[in-house]
Amino acid sequence: MNDFWNDDDQELANIDVLENCVDCENISAAQRLECDSIIRSKGTPQICFRPEYLTVSDLVKQQWCEQQLVYSLDPGIYLMRAPPGMIVDIEETPEQKLVKKKGSDIHFERELEIQVPVQVNIETKEDDWGVKFLNLQFAVQSFYNGNRLAREIPVFGVPFDKDVFVYGIIDELQYNLNEYRVIITELKTRRNSFPPKQGQIRKDKYQVSLYAQLFNDFVEGRFSKELMAAKLQLKVNAQFSKSVMKHITQSRINSANKIHTLGALIDAVLTQVQAMPRIHFAKVEYIHQETKQFISVVDFCLDFQSLAEQYSRHIEWWLAKRGTTGVEVEDCWKCSYCLFSEFCEWRKVMAERTTKEAYRTKCVT
Ligand code: SF4
Repeated sequence: MNDFWNDDDQELANIDVLENCVDCENISAAQRLECDSIIRSKGTPQICFRPEYLTVSDLVKQQWCEQQLVYSLDPGIYLMRAPPGMIVDIEETPEQKLVKKKGSDIHFERELEIQVPVQVNIETKEDDWGVKFLNLQFAVQSFYNGNRLAREIPVFGVPFDKDVFVYGIIDELQYNLNEYRVIITELKTRRNSFPPKQGQIRKDKYQVSLYAQLFNDFVEGRFSKELMAAKLQLKVNAQFSKSVMKHITQSRINSANKIHTLGALIDAVLTQVQAMPRIHFAKVEYIHQETKQFISVVDFCLDFQSLAEQYSRHIEWWLAKRGTTGVEVEDCWKCSYCLFSEFCEWRKVMAERTTKEAYRTKCVT
């Protein structure tokens, strides 16, 4: 089992992960040094791979297979398992890249059906997060203006008080003013024209539930701008650049002319969002990529208790409180779609350990 965060392998893991940090272009030299010393003493995946925030996509990949997430975060950990001298191809195939592109094109088309994105020049980190709040405000304002749909809505925060900042983008919110109800929808495009397996549905439900939790945290006053500023090292009193100020002035936020800082913008936007109902219901809609025909839809009532349990277990890994796991026997079909199946340690050890015939016949090729 590749419990590379376990004590026995800790030293080795630290070195591997450190190498990844040194190569990473997304962190500053200062962070690299900090990362270096922290990893040597603690070695958490969060500090190394996502020093500021996790994305919902990270967590969804983890839900699919944590071992696969590790290999994609640091392919070196996988490549070192191949025999010396062997050339191992872990690049996505052109076909896989095309599938992703088609999926994002369909999402963009859907966004254009109801809104036209505008370019905003970002000069500072505070500008960047200010624009995210403006996009959230734009969605909520559109409901107050009588629209029933909003798309591409940013949500973020620290779910379940787990001390980890998370960021994601909701595909769609539907607002029913008469029933005072909001439904969240996630659109999934599929290469095949038949409905997804349960494993896929579980992953998609987890994704949409996390978005709903983040949105509800805004609505119910659990979002803390002080915590956000501390996690992301933001200066809430810094003035926005001219470009962002222009969009704030054009927005319909109360007292927009008095808002010049991220802190003031957060307060104004949260006041608007807190007048919305919390989300209880969700949908995952599947459409065929080629034809854009509807395949199936899963409607469900959100279960935040089970979301909290699943999320907590995932965060334990990011905080190095437990080792890495891969797919369970019943989900080993996922391995046949995996770029890392050939030398995957989890798969190998599971095959050796388990006496279940199912694993041997379904999973070992
Ligand atoms: Fe996970 Fe299976 Fe891929 Fe290993 S081969 S990373 S267990 S999906």
